[in-house]
Amino acid sequence: QLALETLVPKTDFPILGEIINEQALVYLDNAATTQRPLAVLEKTRTYVLHQYSNAGRSGHVLAERAYEALENTREKVRDFIGAASKEQIIFTRSATESLNMIATGYTQIEDGDEIVLLVSEHHANLLPWQRIAKLKKAHLKYMYLNDALKLTEEEIEKKITNKTKVVAVAHVSNVLGYKIPIEKVAKRAHEQGAILVVDATQSVPHCKVDVKELDADFMVFSAHKMLGPTGVGVLYGKLNHLEKLEPLLLGGGMVEYVEEQSVSFSDLPSRLEAGTINVEGIVGLGAAIDYLKDIGMDRIEAHEQAIAAYAIKRLQDLPYIQLLGDSLEDKVGVVAFNVEGIHAHDVGSILDAQGIAIRVGHHCAHPLMHYLHVPACCRASFYLYNSSSDVDRLIEGLKEVRRVMRLEP
Ligand code: PMP
Repeated sequence: QLALETLVPKTDFPILGEIINEQALVYLDNAATTQRPLAVLEKTRTYVLHQYSNAGRSGHVLAERAYEALENTREKVRDFIGAASKEQIIFTRSATESLNMIATGYTQIEDGDEIVLLVSEHHANLLPWQRIAKLKKAHLKYMYLNDALKLTEEEIEKKITNKTKVVAVAHVSNVLGYKIPIEKVAKRAHEQGAILVVDATQSVPHCKVDVKELDADFMVFSAHKMLGPTGVGVLYGKLNHLEKLEPLLLGGGMVEYVEEQSVSFSDLPSRLEAGTINVEGIVGLGAAIDYLKDIGMDRIEAHEQAIAAYAIKRLQDLPYIQLLGDSLEDKVGVVAFNVEGIHAHDVGSILDAQGIAIRVGHHCAHPLMHYLHVPACCRASFYLYNSSSDVDRLIEGLKEVRRVMRLEP
């Protein structure tokens, strides 16, 4: 097999040249946070040096520049996910905040209603629903995965019924890295009168996602998982739902008029963006979108799939590796596994000593760990700046883990 080169020059990402524990860094923790290219930092710098002020408050030139930068990025995000209008793009602090806003602000859930999640949900798309279910005396139900760790059509039909009010699912699990059949979930949810909330935190950065094709009622993601900065999340919604959504935060910049005992709110998107928002971070997200679009989401997806396929093949050659899912179908660049006889935390530390960064633990997905009967697992996650030589380093690193733990000569 030919070596898979990086899709972009590594020099675009200076941090990838860091020396960690006297070894060249191999960064395989992209499902947690991605690194930032110089182009993103440069755009943020230009904004701070020449356009920075409080967007949408004062009328002076800098305030107008800041507002323009904010609205230009809103348009970029709209275009990137195929939304109909830019009022449907709300900026938040994170995917987590977006999901909390939906769960607490969607007021249609009543006593006895059902909320359906997938067992592999990240806690960010679980705990807000758990709280609202308790508060409203609704029932939280889970769809489970088959032996290949896939969501089947039978399970979708069994769990989503005319009692379901909300279906909230991750498009791609942050642990398993499989795309679920989201169109089927959407169709079933809508046939049964439920809304569909898509946690696209692990899909929007890695493949083309179009909200109209998904037919999502709400969709969320985070900038820091797609070459952007931390502190910026996106909440997309269909207009009719957004118009009824209660804001999570109340404060400045979201009102028409406030009286001592009453308030009339502004129109979207301001109504859901209380307080001073992180415009420099938002500008960074815009620059990240430009960078990703220049490469092309289809190419990024194909690259990651090829790296994941190579990683799975090489991991399968090691008899002591237990993969959590070995199917290549619908896979993004996330591979989860355990090393026989060694706790994931020890694997992580011994790899780190060799300059290899992966994520180990429960990945904020306790119910999935419980369902799979594993206390924790290791996760290698790839992006456009990874190559097959990073996988080779991981494999050599894992052999070293076995030697250090005296399980191999
Ligand atoms: N959902 C999924 C699937 C995730 O992977 C993550 C981040 N690990 C989140 C939600 C939460 O994202 P954030 O921490 O940026 O709010």
